[in-house]
Amino acid sequence: MTDESAEFRVQGLGITELAAEFGTPLYLYDGEALRSRITTLRELLHPRLEIFFSLKSNPNVSVCALLHAHGARAEVSSMAELLTARRAGVQPRDIMFLGPGKSRAELTECLTQGIYAIICESLPELDLIEELASELGVVAPVALRVNPSFAVKGSGLTMGGKPRQFGIDEAQLLAAGPLGKQYDHVRLMGVQAYMGTRILSEDAIVENTRRILELAVRIADHHAFDLELVDVGGGLGVSYFEGERDLDLGVLAEAVNPVLDAFARTHPQTRLVMELGRYLVAESGTYVTRVRYTKSSLGENFAVADGGTNHHMAAVGIGSFVKRNFPIRVLNRYDEPATETWNITGPLCTPNDTLGKKVSLPPLREGDLIGVERSGAYGPTASPVNFLSHGYPAEVLVHDGRAHLVRSADSAEDLLAKQRLIELPPAAS
Ligand SMILES: *Cc1c(COP(=O)(O)O)cnc(C)c1O
Repeated sequence: MTDESAEFRVQGLGITELAAEFGTPLYLYDGEALRSRITTLRELLHPRLEIFFSLKSNPNVSVCALLHAHGARAEVSSMAELLTARRAGVQPRDIMFLGPGKSRAELTECLTQGIYAIICESLPELDLIEELASELGVVAPVALRVNPSFAVKGSGLTMGGKPRQFGIDEAQLLAAGPLGKQYDHVRLMGVQAYMGTRILSEDAIVENTRRILELAVRIADHHAFDLELVDVGGGLGVSYFEGERDLDLGVLAEAVNPVLDAFARTHPQTRLVMELGRYLVAESGTYVTRVRYTKSSLGENFAVADGGTNHHMAAVGIGSFVKRNFPIRVLNRYDEPATETWNITGPLCTPNDTLGKKVSLPPLREGDLIGVERSGAYGPTASPVNFLSHGYPAEVLVHDGRAHLVRSADSAEDLLAKQRLIELPPAAS
């Protein structure tokens, strides 16, 4: 089957032309999927719940701007992410800064920009914020990140109830004297907790939310500050692997909204926040790589593509010793039945550079376009893009039926530009 209708399309635009226009490898985002995801979340979840986009999952400025245009706010964890959110049009009052190792420069930028909240992850950090705010003559709005003593099962990476570099242990916080009045230049105003990522159980999310809301009230009471903010974390997952099931947002809303509602009624002044990365962006993105060579080795088929784990490290397998494949399709022959088994590998000189192992696919040939689907989150941003000096891949966002290059691929010159050659005597012959 080679007719054109059988190719993968985004808002009517065919992959063959997109790949020809922008080159491969390439990350392709469907702006309509982004819009629909944030809009559905805001429609179904409690109206008092604000959605903050964790830029860590996809720091592209246009992706952030599009989500923001549909109501997402921003959670950032570095100077560049903070500036990205600002450039994307997010106002300081809708930005939170979080992370265990904030620098003085980052904290100073938070204070001069006047962002909504700094999420503080340790007591020494609180002292530093006090010092910097005092120098600037401002009062810093600070929420405490708590490492809860409870854990709720159902997350790919569990946070609570374990020794962690993140946040302040619940027990330590409740043992310390009231912090609310100890600082002249820190206004404690909120509580945040993050229970883990890739949560695919509606029940676990409801239980997390319930317990974090309770915890927040206890912490605020103990430390004698007004709860202006409770950030219930998030960590909502999407299914990647066989046997996984996507969250049912309707089911989740029905169960979690009453919990949020009870809290919202008794705390009319408190902003309620959920911070989401993966859930907002994963499904919108496809990593597109082109087959350069096909070969066989000891009876197995290999398709060597022009991009691999240097752009998509997550495809190696998330938190699992056994390799599980992301959904992988041949994009230029999208409907063709899978009759063979292929290993999809990239250009790196390591056997780990395997995007897909023993994937059921149609017979592959040179020039085919391979798509790793559901790849809009933790793609290049979480990959060793400079390994073998290939650099960051191009990113294309389809918005309102038009394709926009929203990041150009690094060139070899881009990568060399930051290097400095030392002076040496002429090479001996
Ligand atoms: C990584 C992270 C997020 C985003 O997680 P997702 O699972 O992508 O939604 C949110 N909050 C904190 C504290 C994080 O570390």
